[in-house]
Amino acid sequence: MKFNENITLLEPERSVWQVIEQIAYSGMQEEAFYVLDIGDIVRKHEEWKLKLPKVEPHYAVKCNDSMMVLEVLNSLGTSFDCASKAEIAKVMQLGVDPSKIIFANPVKQASHIRYAANAGVATMTFDNETELHKIKSLYPSAKLVIRIRCDATAAQCPLGMKFGVEVENAFALLETAYSLELDVIGVSFHVGSGCSDPPVFHRAIQAARALFDDAKRIGFEFTLLDIGGGFPGNKGSSLTKIAEVVNGALDKFFPDGCGVKVIAEPGRFYVASAYTLATLIHSKREVKNGDGTHSFMYYINDGVYGSFNCLLYDHAVVTPIPLKETATTKKLTTGTIWGPTCDGLDQVTGPVMLPEMEIGEWFVFQNMGAYTLPVASTFNGMPIPKVNAIANESTLLMLKDVPSLNEDNFKGNDMPNNLLAELDLSEQNRYHVDQQSTSSSLASFPMSFSSDSFIDDFVEPVN
Ligand SMILES: *Cc1c(COP(=O)(O)O)cnc(C)c1O
Repeated sequence: MKFNENITLLEPERSVWQVIEQIAYSGMQEEAFYVLDIGDIVRKHEEWKLKLPKVEPHYAVKCNDSMMVLEVLNSLGTSFDCASKAEIAKVMQLGVDPSKIIFANPVKQASHIRYAANAGVATMTFDNETELHKIKSLYPSAKLVIRIRCDATAAQCPLGMKFGVEVENAFALLETAYSLELDVIGVSFHVGSGCSDPPVFHRAIQAARALFDDAKRIGFEFTLLDIGGGFPGNKGSSLTKIAEVVNGALDKFFPDGCGVKVIAEPGRFYVASAYTLATLIHSKREVKNGDGTHSFMYYINDGVYGSFNCLLYDHAVVTPIPLKETATTKKLTTGTIWGPTCDGLDQVTGPVMLPEMEIGEWFVFQNMGAYTLPVASTFNGMPIPKVNAIANESTLLMLKDVPSLNEDNFKGNDMPNNLLAELDLSEQNRYHVDQQSTSSSLASFPMSFSSDSFIDDFVEPVN
């Protein structure tokens, strides 16, 4: 398999911010757009391997099912957590072996179980008795993982009210599975997405250990521990705290591995910080306050029916950053930010202190990769922003051993020199940036680029 998606190569010293400036100030771009930094995903994977070396990541596809993300993660060697027939199909389209997929939805539709059976995706979770009967009739040889409930005291998106058998009822459920002659191979949990209670992983791993022992008394020999998701993914967040708790608990409750394979289902961790969104202020309204002061309402071209659905569904909090640097030296006034649709609910931020912004200026939002695009709609005819994937040379070198990535994936043959040498491609059309041209001031920004082909690939000219 090869990558289907295009990546644009950047000079090593280029930042995501500079790319956003170039696109935004090209004079041709009006639509909101994303820049996806492939290097960010690669760095996350490095962090995972370093800090949780004993835990095999199964990327939770629902978090961001972009083909580009799945291809990069597959290249890096992660496995996958799918929750539906379509997610399984999408991952298998990449050539992923079914043994690297866990069907981690405790309540599955019959047609999806039949699909998994046909595809050979054997590992699947359950948390209730009727699910066991369903699996018994549709896929009796499935490898089952019991999902227990163990909630973080604080999480951005709690899941326990919907999924996970209460620990005190887990034993009886396993007895039922045993009497149905089903093959239960391990325990899973999900402490809640966006977990801010690292010690919960200790409690959950301890509860899982107890269930491993219970299962043995029933007659099962468990071999899989699945610690779910919940890991942070925003810029500046770190895996360190949770990793310390997880590694400590694994050493204590599963010393020397005990022949148990440990996996996790990170979603947010891998993608949140890789996506940066740029939105244009297309309209502006001045509001006179009672006390003689005034504030502004800014209308941007993406909202809660698009990328910012994360405000409603993912309980996200977003921070607008004015793209134009000079704007930050201005006096701050109160502003609210609104999406482009005609719905009053379509509000991106409440009152925030901002330099006064003008129509045609841009707000940038970081950490927009998790639980945003897959849920976005074109309600009211508003388009979903285009994603521009970029990678620098060192990132590509990390991916270069990957057979799925080849020269077709790069726009305008923008390959690094050392790859060029290997692939015998010419250096023409390579993208070079004049260091002088990186000023962020709109007025002084030159409207010509050393490589027009680069910017043509990115911008969406409006008629
Ligand atoms: C959503 C989900 C995940 C991913 O959770 P994150 O908090 O994004 O890491 C993992 N496993 C299951 C079963 C999920 O439903």
